[in-house]
Amino acid sequence: QAAAHEAPDSPDVSICFANRSAALFHLGHFEVCLEDIARAESHGYPDRLLPKILLRKAECLLCLGRLQDAANALSALENKIAVDGIMTNPAHQTLLKKLSQLKIKIHEKESCPQPAREACGDIQSKSEFWEENDSISGASSSLSLNFDMKRGRHLVARQDIQPGQNLLKEEAFVSVLCPGEGFLLQDSSETPWDTRVTNADLYCHRCLRQLLASVPCRGCSYAKYCSQNCADVAWEQYHRTECSLGALLLTLGVFCHVTLRTVLLAGFAEVNRLVEWSHDGDKDFHNHEARCEHPSEAPHCRAGTRGIPGCNVNGQYQSSYQAVFNLLPHAEKHSPEHKFLCLLSVVAVCKQLQEAGLEAAVLNRESSEKTSKQEMCEKTWSELSPELKIMAEAMLRHMLQLQCNAQAITVMQESGSGDGTVVNKKPVRLATAFFPVLSLLNHSCCPNISVSFSGTAATVRASQPIPSGQEIFHCYGPHRCRMKVAERQELLSQYFFECRCQACLDELESDVRSVVSVRNSFRCPSCQASMQVGEDMLCCSNEACAVSVSRESLSRRLQDLQQQIKKALELLKDRKADQAIKLLLKCQMDAGNFLSPEHLLMGEMEDHLAQVYATLGKWREAARHLQRSIEIVEVHHGPSSVEIGHELFKLAQILFNGFAVSEALSTIQRAEEILSVHCGPWSTQIQELQEMKTCLLELPRSVLQRT
Ligand SMILES: [Zn+2]
Ligand SMILES: [Zn+2]
Ligand SMILES: [Zn+2]
Ligand SMILES: [Zn+2]
Repeated sequence: QAAAHEAPDSPDVSICFANRSAALFHLGHFEVCLEDIARAESHGYPDRLLPKILLRKAECLLCLGRLQDAANALSALENKIAVDGIMTNPAHQTLLKKLSQLKIKIHEKESCPQPAREACGDIQSKSEFWEENDSISGASSSLSLNFDMKRGRHLVARQDIQPGQNLLKEEAFVSVLCPGEGFLLQDSSETPWDTRVTNADLYCHRCLRQLLASVPCRGCSYAKYCSQNCADVAWEQYHRTECSLGALLLTLGVFCHVTLRTVLLAGFAEVNRLVEWSHDGDKDFHNHEARCEHPSEAPHCRAGTRGIPGCNVNGQYQSSYQAVFNLLPHAEKHSPEHKFLCLLSVVAVCKQLQEAGLEAAVLNRESSEKTSKQEMCEKTWSELSPELKIMAEAMLRHMLQLQCNAQAITVMQESGSGDGTVVNKKPVRLATAFFPVLSLLNHSCCPNISVSFSGTAATVRASQPIPSGQEIFHCYGPHRCRMKVAERQELLSQYFFECRCQACLDELESDVRSVVSVRNSFRCPSCQASMQVGEDMLCCSNEACAVSVSRESLSRRLQDLQQQIKKALELLKDRKADQAIKLLLKCQMDAGNFLSPEHLLMGEMEDHLAQVYATLGKWREAARHLQRSIEIVEVHHGPSSVEIGHELFKLAQILFNGFAVSEALSTIQRAEEILSVHCGPWSTQIQELQEMKTCLLELPRSVLQRT
């Protein structure tokens, strides 16, 4: 953070990099350490301190087995010391001592050379079997792109598809990182420093890779990158325009930012071409009368995929700006208020661009005539130039498209405090993006695919068998396992359609009760039978009992319970594990009196208990509680859901820590089977599971026999 806030090319920033290189050295990240040393040198590291980092450089090179380079660094250091003259103070004495030790080490290594470390192969490059579709870029050949009036564009299985089969790999056309809320990096509540960070400090602003030693933008303290390359490419493609608008873009929100970056990535020529094309389309539209629900999506001719909106003249649908431009803006369906707000945001950005003299950069032009200060002032008050107006028109279109087409990029992030032995991971929204191919998928509350992300790339896999001819469905958020039909329909109204998926039809038209309301029901406080739901009162289903309770009093009880659970978690944070357990057990007793045994909250309490026991190293108890939590999650989400995969991953860690070898191995196997269907065989979680397995299998016999 300090490096991001200091001025570039100052001794202060160079000292930040040098200090970070020391931390990286101790963490064993020698390559990155060398990069930071080079960075410190290039930003004007103070001459008098130079011996320190030269020594570190030599140590790094030695650890990497680059003996000749290490020897060269050492002789540079010796020259430096010779030039500086005799060294007297104690710091210099330790330096000299270290220098002579290092020289001996290099000598030893030279006489018995060890093989240099092999670079790790990129695991991601091992590809699965994959045959690409002729007409949809990034899609598997087992899909086809169809179009009809009711469903618009959609993807259909062309052959039978197996669970786990890879259906689509797409790089985001554009993505913008969402900073999210600030959180503590670890439990450091006792330090006087503000140690809060946001995702903007932890992930590369271009490729979304997790940051180790970030390269800050030279122009602002906000943008950070994983490498100089990402910093340079981002600058060239969009950040030179965005850099000075940082505060405005953060205020206007991530949708507005995505919108600007989209037109910057497309370039003025392409934006201009498509805006003009859309004006021609408008004329066509006024000549012929509207004939269908989605006039903008009506294909002119329907020979194969040619003529399907977004496809090029050869009938190919590519992840291009043309495809983004053809996503439905639903201009006629948004409220006037929403459209006005979008327009204001776009105008604010364009005005600021003009005011900051960035118009040339936006239009990919060299600013040949240097605009004088006076001219710039006049420009501020004048209208937008015709070119900027074209950009603004495209941006407004993208703002409207985002409501239905924005795709969140999520990562699995560690949540809550803990000592790190059992990692509890949750999906967190990291960025907002346009994926024009992924956007072809329609919504269902019971989808047949899973989407996972790696950096800015999305991978879609079948989560269940999909017979030939069936449509491929993505879930836009409202899932049948998490919400009742009314809530789902309410949320889906932002996408301008009424969901008629099987789950919705069942719940709306027949008398099938939603999974959510069946599982999360109340019990009679006096006889434990299930309660029947009325308007304001709930009645016991047991006729002999006939107790009735007001809905209000039950929901108040539920709130109290949640309050108590929160308190228990705070106790855990304060390392009062025994008190946390006591309180959680009391909550469980209380909840058992009025909640159904499958209520999600019952599962949550078991999960928390498992967490507390794990911090105490009581692995048996932790595993027992987690197993009960898993049973409840299974009732809600199904035995092969990704949720069960994550729970089994946690259980595997607990069993691993408790040396329950055979149970751990079978749990790892189950977790692997489920997670590889949803996230693919090369995801980090699968790799971690395999590491645990290898470790367990290598345990000496004596340990194995004891378990
Ligand atoms: Zn990067
Ligand atoms: Zn910047
Ligand atoms: Zn539905
Ligand atoms: Zn009763």
